[in-house]
Amino acid sequence: MKTITILGSTGSIGTQALEVCREHKIKVKALAAHSNVKMLAEQVIEFGAEYACIYDENKLGELEKLLCGRGVDLLTGMEGLKTIAQLDGVDIMLNSVVGMVGLVPTLTAIEHGTDIALANKETLVAGGKLVINAAKEKGVMIYLVDSEHSAIFQSQQGNSMNRVKGIILTASGGPFYGKTTEELRGVTVEQALNHPNWSMGNKITIDSATLMNKGLEFIEAMWLFDLRPEQIEIVVHRESVIHSAVEYEDNSVIAQLGVPDMKIPIQYALLYPNRVHCDVKHLSLTDYGRLTFAKPDYDTFKCLTACIKAVTAGGILPAAVNGANEQAVAAFLAGKISFLAIGELVTEVLENTENKEIHNVDDILAADSAAREYVAKRIEEGQYQ
Ligand code: NDP
Ligand code: MG
Repeated sequence: MKTITILGSTGSIGTQALEVCREHKIKVKALAAHSNVKMLAEQVIEFGAEYACIYDENKLGELEKLLCGRGVDLLTGMEGLKTIAQLDGVDIMLNSVVGMVGLVPTLTAIEHGTDIALANKETLVAGGKLVINAAKEKGVMIYLVDSEHSAIFQSQQGNSMNRVKGIILTASGGPFYGKTTEELRGVTVEQALNHPNWSMGNKITIDSATLMNKGLEFIEAMWLFDLRPEQIEIVVHRESVIHSAVEYEDNSVIAQLGVPDMKIPIQYALLYPNRVHCDVKHLSLTDYGRLTFAKPDYDTFKCLTACIKAVTAGGILPAAVNGANEQAVAAFLAGKISFLAIGELVTEVLENTENKEIHNVDDILAADSAAREYVAKRIEEGQYQ
């Protein structure tokens, strides 16, 4: 029986991962959330976790009350996440928090020698080189939860001796596929949160609407599969049935298909290399009838272009565009800026950041903070309503 810990257990990925744990009898040793104490406490009780971390210190008292007398070790803040990342007797730590805050716990777990199941894409975008090098050095496996990267990994099974020519990274196109910049001017938060195929947390849903999500995945793919930008083709595939594909030396393309349901890649990451029953719908290709493919619109969806430019230049720029995006998305969700402002702010940060090499985690955190401050200041100045 595997033993896991989950950072971000109350979110979209975290709750689905717990369903997998329930069905496949995976032992859960520790759980962490940001502020949803009630759900966290319920999960800790149901799964018999020995450690519970609530990141928001102000909620610790409430958690104490809810778990009183159960012998659970209670933790808080970054120190709490790091404690979980260093627990012994853990096979996999699932990192499914949202945002750059996941970077330090990931590095801590790798340092400890614990394998990672990674959903938290911001970690690899900002700290790709450090994370990948540390994992190689420690012989730690990174199992991929994001459906596209899981599909690429799955399409490589049994092909380790063959040269990868490139990958096809599929994109649903989000709720605003085919729209012009003019048509996107008045977009509301509600419209942006209405994703056609996937039900996910708010931040990634907005990232999917701006196509930032595909930009983040492009960067993630480069690090995970050791690819150059020109080896990755982004293809808009509205139906989200082909979850991505790998092209080999002989021009054969191997893809992974399935209904759009995160349970499949979550379960594959947690139970690898086993394929066992998964509680999702059967894929009926005849129900779909036809699958469609198109090029993305790089002019309208500025975030995607900014990510590709950032990773092509390298250094701190991916961390900067990610930080700018996190700050801008939070402002959009809070009703402070328009939808189009997200892409404009991300582009502005890309163009105004002086690039530097990354030597350590502090360089990444500094780039992230500088980008966030820049965006916060521009919004405060009233430039981007
Ligand atoms: P959600 O917003 O649904 O959930 C985020 C989770 O992280 C919540 O449990 C939240 O706790 C927790 N959290 C946030 N900040 C902290 C913190 N500082 N310390 C501890 N816990 C924290 O996000 P998703 O599940 O949708 O996404 C999670 C990650 O997975 C993102 O990086 C996303 O890009 C990636 N991903 C998601 C997919 C999806 O289908 N949802 C698909 C592929 C990748 P609380 O509830 O208390 O706020
Ligand atoms: Mg994805």
